[in-house]
Amino acid sequence: MKRFECRSLGQECPFSAQAETEEEVLAKAEEHAASAHNMQRGEETRAKIRANIREAQ
Ligand SMILES: [Zn+2]
Repeated sequence: MKRFECRSLGQECPFSAQAETEEEVLAKAEEHAASAHNMQRGEETRAKIRANIREAQ
């Protein structure tokens, strides 16, 4: 499993996304970042998210 926690981007936010693949986590996290934090969709945001995706049990 892969996991992303929004607070790893420095947000005070309890959101986390977990899925089997990095791409799925990335899609969920990008959607959240755009809708909840007004982050722009695109490579820059995706790169920040990707750098903070971790292995989860
Ligand atoms: Zn968030």
